[in-house]
Amino acid sequence: IEPYLGEPKRTIEVLQKYDFVFQKKFGQNFLIDTHVLDKIVKASQVSKDDFVLEIGPGIGTMTQYLAAAAREVVAVEIDKALIPILEDTLQDFENVSVIHDDILKVDIQRLAEERNGGRPIKVVANLPYYITTPIIMGLFENHVPIDSITVMVQKEVADRMQVGPGSKDYGALSLAVQYYAEPYIVANVPANCFMPRPKVGSAVIRLTRHKVPPIEVKDEKLLFRLIRASFNQRRKTLANGLNNDSGLSFTKEEIQQAIANCGYPAGIRGEALSLEEFGRLSNELSK
Ligand code: SAM
Repeated sequence: IEPYLGEPKRTIEVLQKYDFVFQKKFGQNFLIDTHVLDKIVKASQVSKDDFVLEIGPGIGTMTQYLAAAAREVVAVEIDKALIPILEDTLQDFENVSVIHDDILKVDIQRLAEERNGGRPIKVVANLPYYITTPIIMGLFENHVPIDSITVMVQKEVADRMQVGPGSKDYGALSLAVQYYAEPYIVANVPANCFMPRPKVGSAVIRLTRHKVPPIEVKDEKLLFRLIRASFNQRRKTLANGLNNDSGLSFTKEEIQQAIANCGYPAGIRGEALSLEEFGRLSNELSK
């Protein structure tokens, strides 16, 4: 069966057949460009061995491409109005099932356990931009067995995920993503590849999960608390930022001592530290 929904004409036919009304609150911008669809699926490296989780299938456009490439696809869609449409557009694809739910409420770990024997899954999605960060961080932090996440996100967010210290986009998201995965920007995607057109630029990014974390930390929770505390108070020095954070209970002296033991200047700002340097500080503080 050939994927066919990527053609704008076919998307319009389906939308008209069902009198579909776009819901802004669900971040609905459907892909209508076959080249972009091909590119995403190719970049995701999905093969016939793979179990794929698709988040937000819309009318099933990319789902068709994924079904053709994967062993099995499970697509989770929140909008009730799309469920009968998906039953229609995906009826010829026997390796696809649709779950009507909020992805943030789905037990993905269990899904991977039941449908893929607990082996790592691939996630592919044109994400609803209003919840990009909670979705991605949820997948990593809940220790879902993941091989890679290939997603369309807002361009600025893709940039933030892959930069290091020295860039104005560097922040907690950069560090969290890079702790768990190797980011690779696949393509920038212009607004005219979507219906309706988003007001922001978009990019496809692939996050390949590290087999072994790039740094060794004794206390992962502490590492992330330090990162969040230092970027919550960007204008402050690292020492003051950490001292003022209500989630951390170190004394000012302990913080200053740890910073000195790492060999960092006393007045350094958090945004100057690399992932490795945050790791060293975290290990120093958990001594
Ligand atoms: N995959 C389709 C495509 O590329 O044409 C649609 C992508 S659209 C950007 C995002 C999709 O995610 C919409 O279908 C929307 O209804 C769905 N969605 C939004 N919030 C969701 C949530 N919390 N859980 C599951 N799906 C959600």
